[in-house]
Amino acid sequence: MAAICTCCATSVDWWVRLRSHPDLPICHNCLAGLNGQRDGQLQLMTRTWLITGFEPIFKVADVTRSVAWFEGAGFETSFHDDTYAFAHRDRDLTVHLAHAVADDVPGEGSLYIHCQDADRVAEEWRQAGIEVDGPRDEDYGKREGSITDPDGNVIRFGSPIR
Ligand SMILES: [Zn+2]
Repeated sequence: MAAICTCCATSVDWWVRLRSHPDLPICHNCLAGLNGQRDGQLQLMTRTWLITGFEPIFKVADVTRSVAWFEGAGFETSFHDDTYAFAHRDRDLTVHLAHAVADDVPGEGSLYIHCQDADRVAEEWRQAGIEVDGPRDEDYGKREGSITDPDGNVIRFGSPIR
């Protein structure tokens, strides 16, 4: 049965309730928004930055082949373009499937970290003497940068463009 979210007034099929106010449904999107508020407060309290999510990036020889394989393994998939796709499972796991180019070796993985403010992350790492590429605004709505560890493993990080 549908309910009206107390927070955003949208009609939704699924919702959570406060224990003290079971008559006040809150939709999953608004719950995620509240978690974002909590993360903002935690950043203020701890005076640091928080990882809000992280995603492995697999370099693959054939994106279409990989998408078919992940679908067979029970993942939902989506394409950014012919050379880049995503395999999603549940709420928290997204595997990036990136077509290997130039010197890339298929099978070498990397890591994508979601954060709230990519500039803050870059500043901290620069102050620590780490060479940071970016961050810069990308056309897909992310402000992104990256660092590389001594063995060439790449950690990309991104926040929403402000
Ligand atoms: Zn809502």
